[in-house]
Amino acid sequence: MADAAVGATYDDLAAHAPGLGLTVLGALHEDGTVVLLGPDPDRFWPILTAAPEWGAPDPVDRWSARVIGAWATEIGATARFPFGGPPWEPFLRWATASGRCHPSPVGPLVHDALGLMVSFRGALHLPRRIAIPAPSPSPCRGCTAPCTTACPVGALSDAHPYDVPACHAFLDTPAGEACLSGGCLVRRACPASPARPAAQSAHHMAHFHQVERQ
Ligand code: SF4
Ligand code: SF4
Repeated sequence: MADAAVGATYDDLAAHAPGLGLTVLGALHEDGTVVLLGPDPDRFWPILTAAPEWGAPDPVDRWSARVIGAWATEIGATARFPFGGPPWEPFLRWATASGRCHPSPVGPLVHDALGLMVSFRGALHLPRRIAIPAPSPSPCRGCTAPCTTACPVGALSDAHPYDVPACHAFLDTPAGEACLSGGCLVRRACPASPARPAAQSAHHMAHFHQVERQ
């Protein structure tokens, strides 16, 4: 398959990714080419929940390691991951360098196509330079910035860095159920953020509130 083979172009990789449940989020040149991968908004969740990793601890990371690792091997690339450190791979720097992610008024990076829902599952590090798209403009240009006022307790706003304890405290209240079941209201308020399954958002929020809090 040309899209999975050594010598694949950026467009080949972008076309192949959704079949795996992934989407190409951008790329940059660094010791070859780093191609950034995240969950495909439509395909990731049904593919993950049907995968052998589902139902055991850390299904998202283990699925990512298997799927992206196998793809990297197919095309002669090295798989890089945002988990499993230290040392940690520089995904935030790569995201900015790709020209597809931009600073947002509330702090987290915003992606031109995935808005504040952007997340990274891994990267393909190709040993060669391939042609990559030009940087894109920030989706924040001309936006009325509903992200700055969407959090009921101002934990994520343009006033200060992300107040993680305030966020967790709100999630412990009955009113926090809206975030726990449907996803962070700030990330959902961004017009660049695509809709995604509520179950996917609930899984992410449960991990954030129960596991990352520890
Ligand atoms: S809501 Fe608007 S200003 Fe805020 S991150 Fe999204 S595009 Fe940028
Ligand atoms: S999850 Fe809810 S409480 Fe936490 S930052 Fe988002 S909107 Fe605010």
